[in-house]
Amino acid sequence: MIDLHTHSTCSDGTETPRQLINNALIHGLTTIALTDHDSIAGWSQATGALRGTLEVVLGAEISCLTLDGVSVHMLGLLFDGTNPEMIRMLADTRDSRVPRMVKMIELLNAAGYEITMEDIEAVKPVGATLGRPHLADALVAKKYISSRDEAFKGLLNNDSPYYVAHMAPTPEVAIAQIRKAGGVAVIAHPFASHRGEILDASNFDALVAAGLNAIEVDHRDHSASERGMLRTIARDLDLVITGSSDYHGTGKLNALGENSTDPGEWARLESLADARRVVKL
Ligand code: AMP
Ligand code: FE
Ligand code: FE
Ligand code: ZN
Repeated sequence: MIDLHTHSTCSDGTETPRQLINNALIHGLTTIALTDHDSIAGWSQATGALRGTLEVVLGAEISCLTLDGVSVHMLGLLFDGTNPEMIRMLADTRDSRVPRMVKMIELLNAAGYEITMEDIEAVKPVGATLGRPHLADALVAKKYISSRDEAFKGLLNNDSPYYVAHMAPTPEVAIAQIRKAGGVAVIAHPFASHRGEILDASNFDALVAAGLNAIEVDHRDHSASERGMLRTIARDLDLVITGSSDYHGTGKLNALGENSTDPGEWARLESLADARRVVKL
């Protein structure tokens, strides 16, 4: 079973890269991609933990913003992790997440929530890409809410008055950068509408022109009809179709391998990278 989208403690997952690899073996996965938000910090630990016949696909989930302010997540897989422009793009986004969090804290403080950056640092793994899930964990620790899920249904939702966006590349810039670094670009959960505003079908032409390779169709945040629409778009634009769990450990309900990618689709996607970078023993 092939799962092309997971998170570790290097972003908002709750398992270390080593634990994630061990869990993948327990769940009988054959291929797992590590795709932390705006970070490749987990790559070396994941590679070092490799055992048996499991294959690891190193990647990252890049936070993007369209010129209209729509949040888009772009999975970059199999890119060269030493590419300087790629490293800079990821670092710039991580850096901008700090002032963004300060602004969200200020808005929450003004509304009476007593929360500080220190509270967030106390619950965030060292080195992890800072995100709203860590703010949610701090609010849980202070008993304002009971779970991350509750936070994302209200207080920290994209439509909430406390939401602030951070700086991010456009999807087209991210795709071009992933491809320049030799990797493949997969748009993550494009029709996950409950998160906020989403792209519409007409936006995909520009993404294909920028070099998009695949659409993540089978994802828990897509309904059957959304999957159907995305399959049609993928077929029309000759894009690879993927499926994945978007596993976050106990940070989200998603179970490892709950959605997966067809082996033929994966073979086609892997062949589009500029070098054979799947890691196996
Ligand atoms: P940010 O990148 O800081 O804007 O935070 C967005 C992140 O929150 C995404 O990576 C999601 O994985 C995570 N997220 C969204 N909804 C939920 C949820 N219901 N429970 C836990 N995490 C969530
Ligand atoms: Fe996440
Ligand atoms: Fe995502
Ligand atoms: Zn994700």
